Amino acid sequence: MNDTIQLDADAVLRRFAEEREKRLRPEGFGQYLGLTQDMDRDPWTERQERPPVADHVTFTFVGGGWAGLLTGAELAKRGIHDVRIIDRAGDFGGVWYWNRYPGVMCDSPAALYLPLLEETGHMPSMKYAFQPEILEHCQRIGRHFGLYDKALFHTSVERAEWDEAARLWRITTDRGDSFTSTYLSLGLGFFSTPKLPGIHGIEKFKGKAFHAARWDYAYTGGSPADPRLDKLTDKRVAVIGTGATAIQCIGPVSETAKELYVFQRTPSAVSPRGNGPVDEAWFRSIATPGWQKRYNDAYVRDWTGLWGQPFSLEPSLDPLDDDFAKFAARLRSVILSVPAEIRNPVTVKAALDKASVDIVSEVHEYIRGMVSDPDTAEKLLPWYRPLCKRPTFNDDYLHAYNRPGTRLVDTDGKGVEAITETAVIANGTEYPVDCIIYASGFEFAKDPLRALKFEVLGTGGIDLRSHWAQGVRSLHGLHTRGFPNMFTVQLAQGADFAANVPTGWQDAGETIALIVDHMRQQGLSRVEVEEADELAWSQQIAATPPMPDTRDCTPGLLTFEGGTDPRIALLSGVPEGPRGFFAMMAGWKLSGDFAGLEFQQ
Ligand SMILES: Cc1cc2nc3c(=O)[nH]c(=O)nc-3n(C[C@H](O)[C@H](O)[C@H](O)COP(=O)(O)OP(=O)(O)OC[C@H]3O[C@@H](n4cnc5c(N)ncnc54)[C@H](O)[C@@H]3O)c2cc1C
Repeated sequence: MNDTIQLDADAVLRRFAEEREKRLRPEGFGQYLGLTQDMDRDPWTERQERPPVADHVTFTFVGGGWAGLLTGAELAKRGIHDVRIIDRAGDFGGVWYWNRYPGVMCDSPAALYLPLLEETGHMPSMKYAFQPEILEHCQRIGRHFGLYDKALFHTSVERAEWDEAARLWRITTDRGDSFTSTYLSLGLGFFSTPKLPGIHGIEKFKGKAFHAARWDYAYTGGSPADPRLDKLTDKRVAVIGTGATAIQCIGPVSETAKELYVFQRTPSAVSPRGNGPVDEAWFRSIATPGWQKRYNDAYVRDWTGLWGQPFSLEPSLDPLDDDFAKFAARLRSVILSVPAEIRNPVTVKAALDKASVDIVSEVHEYIRGMVSDPDTAEKLLPWYRPLCKRPTFNDDYLHAYNRPGTRLVDTDGKGVEAITETAVIANGTEYPVDCIIYASGFEFAKDPLRALKFEVLGTGGIDLRSHWAQGVRSLHGLHTRGFPNMFTVQLAQGADFAANVPTGWQDAGETIALIVDHMRQQGLSRVEVEEADELAWSQQIAATPPMPDTRDCTPGLLTFEGGTDPRIALLSGVPEGPRGFFAMMAGWKLSGDFAGLEFQQ
């Protein structure tokens, strides 16, 4: 490497550090607010009155997103149909029920993101599917596996309590339901609670204001299926936030809004998307029996190696030509370029830092090429390591800044100063607007306690929240001592495979269904994890240094807003990475002895 490049690299790394400093806030997650009750209304489905239920079911799953659907499907495949899925939404879908903002689509290839395609016979229409198709697929799975029969929608669980004498869970909800269930599972999602920025005066605004996850099409015009926002032509609109949601919705908003002000604290790394229709002949050629599992395995392989040992030396596959997987494969090859005998978190970080400079320069070049105004383009350049925030892919976002009505208001890491009755104030300037759209994201509930808003009482009445107060403890992320017949479907302490979440949830659903089926066949009524196994599992998670090390990242959701709480170490995945986890779980399931679990008649 010559001197000039070395100097540039140092300058870039210094800039990363400076930009991080600007954004660190002592309040961490405390800088955000929850939605007001009015903002949190379900815009999509009318609440139906119904009598409360008071019965018994075999299995209750709280959460009707992929986690609940895939567990329900795996149970149904084994003949267990007495399953009740509960959601505060009006239908299945989880994030895909709630998020219907214009432009919303998945980032993983649809051929993988839409699970159970073989079983349901669906062919994705686009390489990256838009929300209406994803929601329809959730509903298709619900119908195919009979999961609607016992589901309760627009229903929030208020309390679940283990009854040791009766060996079942007693569950109550906000609809007056009071029923029992042999098993309980929680899949509350890690992006299911929208948040607002805690901006001074936010409650004073008298115009229209909504969160992007509760989009108001009655105000903007258009619909999820046809997002031409024809009622914005005479409106001055503010979008606050420039993360993954804004990257997808700014394009459609900018097409019609009379004036659009985008308030930016931290720019996102944006790369081209290249979406398009799925070629039916191609799809038929790959869709041979077992294809989705094979493609999934290949995708997982691309990602594994970023996290842990041992690093796979097999060449990357990327059969779906996916840019996110290419990004992973690139980082993996950087890690592998460090000789095995000196490969450790420090040497890996140094190698990644070098690569970060190249990757960031490429993103900068792309942005400069797309945005005609050089000043705006400079402000849109991200200055952080590639893994600090989820990279985004979009063909519309940058182009929006070339439209005459769209203006970027960069706040140099500080964020919006205040909101008044009629305006947004940033950098000392007042921007009068008719409407504020909060693209301010979600509480990141990788810490499962953040999503848990109700009481779960295990043996001896211990509350799960107090039980995990010193950090999450589990076996495989699924089983917790003191909470018999209960399973948690979560990122922490499992595969931690956020690159394509349904892959992990399908694996978890299969594990749960196998255990329940085993108990049914053997006439067993109680399962609980052994204390020693839970401890050993959690200790190995806590002892794993994050790889790659993201502790000096610009603050954001993936890095817990720069938080340094030691309990964060317990939220990682296994040291072996997703591939190692799935392989280990396959062996565990195959062996049939369910090591670490204690069963009783
Ligand atoms: C816009 C968007 C795009 C995404 N794109 C991708 C992608 O491309 N690839 C990827 O891998 N991941 C993506 N994700 C991440 C996404 O969260 C996961 O893929 C997946 O949908 C999570 O499923 P889940 O079942 O765990 O949670 P969720 O989908 O969040 O479902 C949880 C459900 O639990 C319900 N709930 C919570 N508490 C209660 C309670 N007390 N009582 C009743 N119900 C309750 C919620 O209403 C919610 O419906 C995306 C997320 C968003 C928001």
